[in-house]
Amino acid sequence: MQVHDSFDRRIDYVRIAVTDRCNLRCFYCMPEEGIAYEPKSHLLSYEEITRLLKVLGNLGFSKVRFTGGEPFLRKDFIQLLENTANLQLFKNIHITTNGTLIKNQIPKMKSLGISKINLSLDTLDAERFKKITRRSDFEKVMKTFHQLVEEGFQVKVNAVVMQGVNVMDILPLAQLAADYPVSIRYIEEMPFNGGYKENQKICTAKDIQQTLQSAYPSLQPMVGKHGDTATEYQVEGFKGTLGIIPAFSRTFCNTCNRLRITAKGEIKTCLYDSGVFSIRDFIRSGVTDDQLTEKIIALIKLKPKDGFAAEEGSKLRITRSESMSSIGG
Ligand code: SAM
Ligand code: SF4
Repeated sequence: MQVHDSFDRRIDYVRIAVTDRCNLRCFYCMPEEGIAYEPKSHLLSYEEITRLLKVLGNLGFSKVRFTGGEPFLRKDFIQLLENTANLQLFKNIHITTNGTLIKNQIPKMKSLGISKINLSLDTLDAERFKKITRRSDFEKVMKTFHQLVEEGFQVKVNAVVMQGVNVMDILPLAQLAADYPVSIRYIEEMPFNGGYKENQKICTAKDIQQTLQSAYPSLQPMVGKHGDTATEYQVEGFKGTLGIIPAFSRTFCNTCNRLRITAKGEIKTCLYDSGVFSIRDFIRSGVTDDQLTEKIIALIKLKPKDGFAAEEGSKLRITRSESMSSIGG
């Protein structure tokens, strides 16, 4: 079975924020004082998430990404990974993490066959790391990076590039891809930090591409895969690759293949909509799997053409005061 939206895009990838809580305070994501966290009873339970995944898997979804907040902050997160692996419906089970809490979970993840990790790291400078995340965990994250690479995980490093903050990290981060078989993905900053300022100056995908091109004249775009948001580049002699994600310019929407579920169980059919339906309340109203399946198909049909249409069609002001920590990135 396959599901397509009304623009004939096949939707087969779900991103689930398992918590809105986080142990870091990256300023582009959360205000310093944190956000008003949802009471635990408002979060989808692991049983509810597993049930949803079963329904989605039967609809042809083949990829799930667990994110947050910090997913490893949620108690027994590894149990959810195990439940998901046991479904045997998802070819790709991915995780996005800040890398501060996963050290002891690496062997278990390996045994479950989970090998693809996106690690968020915006700088290779400990002081800048502290300024950006408002915490002093740089060494811990670097250790995680090395451990994951040594253990053979496929690592993508997510770096949000911000004007006046860490553009000087673009090339040092690229050096990681020269030395290790990893992908460094530069992300345009998006207006979700719990306190977005209008007219904020954005370091664009084009700015990033120009910086990389000047430093590495052999920079070559690679052929993309279904649903890619990053334009991936290779550089002669590099073990890894470099990717640029135009998250703010939104030039990838025509190939979008994803659905998002926020920490409190809201379905977002686009990152830029403000949540279209509470799947949590629907599940808790006692529906059957068939009703759940029908509802998800109907919601997918509502997916907007692109992020600009989603923004226009939704309550933009509310969206922009949301934190990425509850949306999941
Ligand atoms: N805590 C985990 C982490 O940091 O990897 C997972 C959740 S975090 C919200 C998921 C991704 O969203 C991270 O890679 C983070 O850098 C990115 N992100 C958060 N706020 C962002 C923003 N305003 N613009 C662009 N990316 C953002
Ligand atoms: Fe936490 Fe990730 Fe947001 Fe940073 S980006 S505050 S690590 S949820």
